[in-house]
Amino acid sequence: MRWWLVLIVLFTSCARQKPERFSREAIRRPKALPIIILDPGHGGANDGTKMAMAPYIKEKTLALDTALKVRDILEQWGYKVRMTRTRDVFIPLAERVTFAKQHRGYAFISIHFNHAPNKNANGVEIFYSHKSNFTPSSKKLAKDVLDSICKRTQAASRGIHPGDYHVLRENGAMPAILVEGGFFSNVSDAKKLSNPQYIRTLAYSIAQGIDDFVQQDCR
Ligand SMILES: [Zn+2]
Repeated sequence: MRWWLVLIVLFTSCARQKPERFSREAIRRPKALPIIILDPGHGGANDGTKMAMAPYIKEKTLALDTALKVRDILEQWGYKVRMTRTRDVFIPLAERVTFAKQHRGYAFISIHFNHAPNKNANGVEIFYSHKSNFTPSSKKLAKDVLDSICKRTQAASRGIHPGDYHVLRENGAMPAILVEGGFFSNVSDAKKLSNPQYIRTLAYSIAQGIDDFVQQDCR
């Protein structure tokens, strides 16, 4: 075989190899990404639940901390993010929904942590709006975010459920979910949720779940 023929054969076989897997950032599409509404639960005088053991973190504090991290990640990826609160204040539920609609959010994600009298209850569950014409989209968003969280944090999945919460019910056409990111009443969950590195992973996984939904959504 002539030397130049060898070169051609080598080049073609290399070109046929599977393309390298690029990181999510590298394949980000240049198109304008939609506005995401993040809603850290509770705030101000409304603490939500509280860990029964040290470091006694309040739900309102961790919800805000997590949501701010989700915001930073989504913004790095090119999303516009609007938050119903960015500090320790209580925003009435109706105002949160009005805010989401005014900003023409593409999706609404409320962030909370759980509590149960049964101390063994643990894991992550997500509620979706089920009284709107866009229930299938809300359900898909809930599934994408739950799958991403469970894959990346190894948290136990408690599934997705229809939820009759004000911020879900009243959001109209906007796909809306409420993430319960773990149980403050469970020793193992509380220990994980007290670890800043775990919260970074949780935030990253929520952001990736939102991105999975946006990239596949065909509305
Ligand atoms: Zn809550």
